[in-house]
Amino acid sequence: MKELKERILIDGEILGDDVLKVDRFLNHQIDPQLMQAIGNEFATRFKAEPITKIVTIESSGIAPAVFAGLKLNVPVVFARKHKSVTLGDNLYCASVYSFTKGVTNNIVVAKNFIEANDHILLIDDFLANGEAAMGLMEICYQAGASIAGIGIVIEKSFQPGREKIEKTGIQVESLARIKAFENGTVTFVNGEEK
Ligand code: 5GP
Repeated sequence: MKELKERILIDGEILGDDVLKVDRFLNHQIDPQLMQAIGNEFATRFKAEPITKIVTIESSGIAPAVFAGLKLNVPVVFARKHKSVTLGDNLYCASVYSFTKGVTNNIVVAKNFIEANDHILLIDDFLANGEAAMGLMEICYQAGASIAGIGIVIEKSFQPGREKIEKTGIQVESLARIKAFENGTVTFVNGEEK
């Protein structure tokens, strides 16, 4: 997605060898117009699927997921990273190692928000090692729901997440696919200019 890639080149900051900071439009301050365009793009890419619900993970997946939900006219559920007292015990749970924070979280979704007849689109902000995406997939399978695909805003294609998901046969659609961080700049995977 051209608009997103241009924004990454303008506002993205490379931290260390493999982290991209996009606090100006996605991870801290949010650009609603860009998020809406992103949500619309996800809706277009998965239009062939009879999606009943979107599931994402707090907090940075929520903005793009809500705009996709608006376009597809389906509810959006976000997995929580901490079990709050209001959630109760009737939960689907998966363990996810956080690449950026170096900790393992149990992500949870209340059982009444995913049903066996749901056909779910998963959305997240980044795809790195695939931990968050695999955790979300596990939660859907615990509920007996089917998965329409996974929509990712920014994929770091030099990390193994996409390969892991593709092995499961699930469709992955990433709106920006980063090939490498070279000499302080971001380069994108060739041939996916959309
Ligand atoms: P994974 O689970 O695929 O290893 O990593 C995805 C999760 O880690 C995303 O939900 C995202 O929050 C975080 N993440 C991974 N890599 C990056 C990165 O380069 N920049 C930012 N801002 N978050 C990242």
